[in-house]
Amino acid sequence: MKLSVNFILIATLLVVGSLAADHWTYSHLDEWPINCQSGKKQSPIAISKRNAIRIDLKKLKFDNYDNDDIKTTLENNGHTGGGLSSTYVLDNIHFHWGSEHTIDGGRHPLEAHLVHYKQTCGNMVNASNYPDGLVVLAVMFDVACCTNKDLAIVTNSVKSVSKNLHSTLRIQDDFKPEVFLPDNTKCYYMYTGSLTTPGCNEVVTWLMFEDAISISQTQLNQLSQVYTDAGKLLSYNFRPLQELHGRKVFYTSASDCD
Ligand SMILES: [Zn+2]
Repeated sequence: MKLSVNFILIATLLVVGSLAADHWTYSHLDEWPINCQSGKKQSPIAISKRNAIRIDLKKLKFDNYDNDDIKTTLENNGHTGGGLSSTYVLDNIHFHWGSEHTIDGGRHPLEAHLVHYKQTCGNMVNASNYPDGLVVLAVMFDVACCTNKDLAIVTNSVKSVSKNLHSTLRIQDDFKPEVFLPDNTKCYYMYTGSLTTPGCNEVVTWLMFEDAISISQTQLNQLSQVYTDAGKLLSYNFRPLQELHGRKVFYTSASDCD
């Protein structure tokens, strides 16, 4: 069964920090809604490359992700297993530090989530009610010596605004979503899971790139300078790893992704 997913970018909205709309915190996980605690398809998870099932995950095709016009479209030629054949719209990009998912036990300093909703659902809220409602692209970051010039427009924009948990930032001119894609988008994992914040809806098809993007320590600091409602610097915003409960994790069988 072939999966064909098309992505359309209609908004370039960057959400800083978590998508917190309520008063939950990472230090009181026991107060998250019951669905977050009893769900059997929760995210994030620990990815094991050795245990991932090799299938023909088609090469993702990001048409117009290099376009700074807000009506750019993004095409994904899909993969096996889900039976989806849909168009998804990029709603927001946000960050977690450190990373939420781990790959072979490693936790990266930063993970970006490019959150897309199914176009026929109309919006995020409606899509969050359907098992195939959301597709999230997860991108890992590593810290390297040098400034990532492609990301400068983002990090500089973030730097220039007052940030708290509930603030959003609309990136100005010339923002191209492709800056959040690793050079190699061929090698990726796929599994079905949930939002990693309340209400933890189990409606997300996760696509996780194996290759990370390099940024400088300064850029990492800029992207993670977010303050809590209490005025304290948010030291981390990743949810603990969740049980697989028998779910399968897939990895592309492309020959150059060994
Ligand atoms: Zn997220």
